[in-house]
Amino acid sequence: MAEVKDAVIIGAGSAGLAVAVGLRKQGARNIVLLEREDEPGGILRQCIHDGFGLIRFGEKLSGPEYADRFIAEAAALGVDIQTRASVIGLTRDKRVTAVTRQGLKEYQAKAVILAMGCRERTRGALGIPGVRAAGIYTAGVVQAFVNLRNLMPARNAVILGSGDVGLIVARRLTLEGCKVSAVIEKLPYPSGLPRNVQQCLRDFDIPLYLSHTVTDIKGDARIQSVEVSALDDEGIPVPGSAKEFPCDTLVLSVGLIPENELSRMADIELDPCTGGPLVDEFYQTSQEGIFAAGNVLHIHDLVDHVSVEGEKLALAAAEYIHAGKLPACPIRLEPGAGVSSVVPQWISGDRDVDLDIRVSVPAMDKRLTLRQGGVALKSMSYRKVNPPETIRVRLESNEINARVSRDQATRDQGIRDKETREQRTRDQAIRVVASGDQGNPGDPDNPGDQDNPGNPGADINIQVMIEE
Ligand SMILES: Cc1cc2nc3c(=O)[nH]c(=O)nc-3n(C[C@H](O)[C@H](O)[C@H](O)COP(=O)(O)OP(=O)(O)OC[C@H]3O[C@@H](n4cnc5c(N)ncnc54)[C@H](O)[C@@H]3O)c2cc1C
Repeated sequence: MAEVKDAVIIGAGSAGLAVAVGLRKQGARNIVLLEREDEPGGILRQCIHDGFGLIRFGEKLSGPEYADRFIAEAAALGVDIQTRASVIGLTRDKRVTAVTRQGLKEYQAKAVILAMGCRERTRGALGIPGVRAAGIYTAGVVQAFVNLRNLMPARNAVILGSGDVGLIVARRLTLEGCKVSAVIEKLPYPSGLPRNVQQCLRDFDIPLYLSHTVTDIKGDARIQSVEVSALDDEGIPVPGSAKEFPCDTLVLSVGLIPENELSRMADIELDPCTGGPLVDEFYQTSQEGIFAAGNVLHIHDLVDHVSVEGEKLALAAAEYIHAGKLPACPIRLEPGAGVSSVVPQWISGDRDVDLDIRVSVPAMDKRLTLRQGGVALKSMSYRKVNPPETIRVRLESNEINARVSRDQATRDQGIRDKETREQRTRDQAIRVVASGDQGNPGDPDNPGDQDNPGNPGADINIQVMIEE
């Protein structure tokens, strides 16, 4: 028989730990945190470099030190953390199936929190030609070998991809005596944070080849070299540009993908821009009572932001556990020109909300503008914008021009249902009211909203875009 829980949290990385601690602080007693590994902490356990917690604690902590602070708090608050408990099933009605030390367990939860983190893109996803030899690893696997298992998988490595994990692994391997001949990046700019490019590559004289890629892998039982070619503006290898780099290891750092197998099982709608679930300002997914935070939602640059997200989610989930529902969020946020993603994707318009925004390409001296129905709600100047760095913008409720009338918002509780949302989008021209107008009380389709009177016909969705 299923064990009934107020909340089941899946994954005990920084997101899951912050949610568990937050829920306990809100008085939720009947919760369980399920973690498939032997210990809580998530990816932080293998990140023994420092640089964690600068915002939150004003200190440069290592990953394990940062995680330990939350693990200690969770223990002090009596959070039930079940390790070696792997969740293998999740349904829309919040039934969770886990393989645990006690065997197969079923939970029926009021709220489910997805905090499963992300996984790494592999060679198969890239289709790099060449031999299928030993010595090809993803960066996270190399990091786990070296930092968790004290094993050295390489003597002479080439790293493909300049994401943060690859950069950190380049430095780690160098410190352990491996020669890192090159970091190869297909884009004309690094994918990782500028501080990591400086501290992990330049400080160690590791060459970074931008607009290059690996076009062949050579070797026998073990790889012996990789062929690297320059790319033209279309991303096509330039004929005659190939150079051979001898190496025994190719490390792939070619992207992180939110881990959403369980989300798919529960028919949760995913955002093609982030790879994670579409969520509202309460971090609630398209399935009511199922929430998401951390790298499962979108790939984060800093752990401090993951923890804050988890804490905000905990407040909302506690409200949901208590009240059985949360306010409707009918306003859609959409990435426009120059913006690759915005989280959350749905907001109520009634509360201030922090938006996590990523741009598509690096640029200097740009404006980030939020527009609703063509009207600029907010515009900020940036000296520099960079895809790996999250831009955090607070959108205050009083800055929003058009919102769905409160009556409509209540009727739109079914907004979680895709069809209802599409219907509402089609109908919004007559349903939406914007502040500053009384609407038309004689018009049954647009009687106006006494709490929030306004213009009919405004476009309610908000576009986030980069402008000159
Ligand atoms: C190499 C690397 C370096 C970084 N460096 C920095 C840095 O210097 N500074 C900084 O601020 N941030 C850094 N970050 C970012 C930050 O560490 C992460 O964004 C953050 O820790 C992610 O937390 P999370 O809880 O979302 O995911 P994770 O830490 O990945 O946790 C997810 C957990 O869920 C568990 N899980 C998954 N599926 C299941 C399942 N089905 N059942 C049970 N459990 C499951 C996993 O085992 C894991 O423990 C770095 C990240 C990486 C990868």
